[in-house]
Amino acid sequence: MILLDGKKTSEKILKKVKFNVEKTINNTGRVPHLVVIIVGENPASQIYVRNKKNTAEKIGIKSTVIEFPENVSEKNLLKKIAELNKDNDVTGILVQLPLPKHINKNNIVQAIAPQKDVDGFTPENVGKLAIGIEPYFYPATPQGIIMLLDEYKIKIEGADILVIGRSNIVGRPMSQMLINRNATVTTAHSYTKDLDDKIKTADIVISAVGKKIVRCKMVKKNSVIVDVGIFKDANGKLTGDVDFEYVSPSCEFISPVPGGVGPMTIASLMYNASKVYV
Ligand code: NAP
Repeated sequence: MILLDGKKTSEKILKKVKFNVEKTINNTGRVPHLVVIIVGENPASQIYVRNKKNTAEKIGIKSTVIEFPENVSEKNLLKKIAELNKDNDVTGILVQLPLPKHINKNNIVQAIAPQKDVDGFTPENVGKLAIGIEPYFYPATPQGIIMLLDEYKIKIEGADILVIGRSNIVGRPMSQMLINRNATVTTAHSYTKDLDDKIKTADIVISAVGKKIVRCKMVKKNSVIVDVGIFKDANGKLTGDVDFEYVSPSCEFISPVPGGVGPMTIASLMYNASKVYV
């Protein structure tokens, strides 16, 4: 069994991104500038935002965090996004989710200019991905997973891949990106029958659920298991969707939690934030 080391791979990618940022600055005089909008005081969101800002700065990407109080109106948020869309100094805009209930998330996401939508969540970028055209940006987590598979030279083309989960941020774009790479993809969700049978026959399993769901002892020989889930177990310890002890002896590659998909997501986001389209 080989560990898919997201920490090591993400460091390698961040080095490349840093080099590309320097090249962009030298060749064009433009400094990539990521603006992150955060609303309210959700502690997890604050940690994510701090992490994004610190990583961006380490690799030469300018980064600004704009904080709004929990009771900010949707109108004011939209006004700020419109300003940032017009601001030529700003090359990437990210709104940290979740947003408070009184704000319509879709209205906010749709307001971001597709050329600055580093999360790849706007209808234009999502639509392009769905019809197999290169979007400006791919969503960070699925793109990071593909970077990890590519790093370990895992063949995607022609593989039978099971994606568990169909959220807009992970499962759905993951399935679409893999179809575009010529995999045969099954997308499972809470209505899927006989999930264990599907897990046992897939060449690659990518689980993005947020519950211990991959726990079969015998997965396919030479299979690859990617664990996207991250949550706290009953003892408060960070864990993933996959029962590592059970599954790891029978597969060929497996990603750990933590240290697998998590660091790849950040590296992939930084790759997006280093792009300058405007
Ligand atoms: P989500 O929006 O809650 O989606 C979960 C998906 O799992 C849904 O599509 C749901 O199906 C499906 N599901 C739930 N129970 C199931 C079952 N018994 N069998 C099969 N499918 C089932 O979650 P998310 O935002 O995609 O995140 C998923 C996990 O990944 C979470 O633990 C999250 O923290 C983690 N995550 C990690 C990273 C990272 O960088 N490491 C990034 C993003 C997310 P329905 O659609 O039918 O409800």
